[in-house]
Amino acid sequence: MRSTMMQTPLSLNQLLEHANALYSGREVVSRRPDKSLHRCNYGSVYARARQLAQALQRAGVGRGEAVGTLMWNHWAHLEAYFGIPAAGAVLHTLNLRLSPEDLAYIIGDAEDRLILIDDVLLPIWEKVKPLLASPPRVIVFAFSGAPVPSGHEDYEDFIADDASGYCYPEQGENEAMGMCYTSGTTGRPKGVVYSHRSMVLHAIVGALPDVLAASSRDNVLVITPMFHANAWAMPFSALMLGAKQVFPGPHLGGEDLLDLMESEHITLSLGVPTIWLMVLQALQSGKRSWMLVQGMRMSVGGAAVPRSLIEAFDKYGLTIKQGWGMTETSPLGSFTSIKPDLLDAPADELYAIRARAGLQVPLVQLRIVDDEGKALPWDGVATGELQCRGPWVAGGYHNQATDPEKFTADGWLRTGDVATIDAEGYLRIADRSKDLIKSGGEWISSVDLENAIMGHPAVAEASVIAVKHPKWGERPLAVVVKKAGKEVTPGELRELLLPHFAKWQVPDDFAFVEALPRTSTGKFMKTKLRQEFKDWVSKTPA
Ligand code: ADP
Repeated sequence: MRSTMMQTPLSLNQLLEHANALYSGREVVSRRPDKSLHRCNYGSVYARARQLAQALQRAGVGRGEAVGTLMWNHWAHLEAYFGIPAAGAVLHTLNLRLSPEDLAYIIGDAEDRLILIDDVLLPIWEKVKPLLASPPRVIVFAFSGAPVPSGHEDYEDFIADDASGYCYPEQGENEAMGMCYTSGTTGRPKGVVYSHRSMVLHAIVGALPDVLAASSRDNVLVITPMFHANAWAMPFSALMLGAKQVFPGPHLGGEDLLDLMESEHITLSLGVPTIWLMVLQALQSGKRSWMLVQGMRMSVGGAAVPRSLIEAFDKYGLTIKQGWGMTETSPLGSFTSIKPDLLDAPADELYAIRARAGLQVPLVQLRIVDDEGKALPWDGVATGELQCRGPWVAGGYHNQATDPEKFTADGWLRTGDVATIDAEGYLRIADRSKDLIKSGGEWISSVDLENAIMGHPAVAEASVIAVKHPKWGERPLAVVVKKAGKEVTPGELRELLLPHFAKWQVPDDFAFVEALPRTSTGKFMKTKLRQEFKDWVSKTPA
């Protein structure tokens, strides 16, 4: 028997049409560089995204060709999120924190035909341009509000023509709509290319009640950069739902974010743990009434979320839910949800669950495997490489032959994370395989140590790396940032750790620093730390 259902290809254009039909008046609020707020609505995003699509086609951008964006989070970037795919082209978000060399490499690798750039980011472009054999056409968006510098094409002129009669290209649902590059901690950055189908399915599943539980009634603050893993696809979900979207522009400090949360009545917000550490410090400074932000849900991921952070925000009536994912998974892979039979569990157990990376979301499958590739049981103990598959999980990289280091012969993505999954299905990321510390042949999880150390009231941030040791091979070194005006000694930190770790897992080595180096996406940058501490002599006796 054949199905009698219509064959409607999934497309982001359908989401754009839907938002305009039902929610054209819903607001989009963006903070400009001078901190003033720009307000528009989905009706104008709809019209201007279509104007952009038409302009791109008239500029000769062909089907499946890449168009770069070098932009902060704001309304014009949202227009590009929908307008570039609506032209049949591929939205290539450029990470503005990458080095000029890496940016030049990925612009070349993606063969960007044209790039949209914020005026305030032109200094970055000036460093990238000389490194390109044939620089693409550049269109400048006046994000600062000042006129576009002479000699540059203005985005407003580029998209000026009426596009009410614009017709979307007829596209199959598997055609490319976007691409992001992985950070390239090993080798060159690699391009992950998303399809209309993968992104629409991701947008829907991301909104489900057991995931973000997002709806048209939400006011969403998108802190996750739009140049990183599609801002966790929130701009797509939020527009589809008709939720109000608020963008912080370049202002990512704790106080600035709290101001926006208060003034725009934010109900849902997303970002990496390091952002939330800053927000927490701003809250704890006691300068404002936290009641104004009470009730907000926070989706936190991209790095392990310390239990102490979850507990600290709970005290303010702010709920953290953790997700795990990567650029290769669009990024949603797993998300915290307390299963019905566990709702009555003791508070301590509930915190332990929330400090894990959640449950696989519908349509994504997770498994852990041993060194031989054999699947391990879900018992919370067996530890192995996390592998993943699903309709929005990459099965390969742009311009690269299939790499057995990244993809298994039976069709799973090798994540490079080391994890356990317990009998209920909760994922716990022990580490990235390259961050594990191997001491005397036994593994120590840097993530577990970091989370515990960050639970100390005098610690602002901590990152644990391996340092060489003549007898044990490697020993953990905890690099710690103290909170302003607070003191803590290595002895006190060891006391804190000893009840929770085997004695040999507890670091003998502690270094106190002013700040930790961060990656382009705001995570602690262990490669840099390892470099800085490469000559450290471990205090563990040989
Ligand atoms: P990169 O950090 O290299 O730029 P991604 O943003 O794709 O690349 O990061 C994906 C990685 O981030 C995962 O493989 C995992 O190591 C880490 N990660 C993401 N979410 C979590 C989480 N909830 N807990 C622990 N680690 C996480």
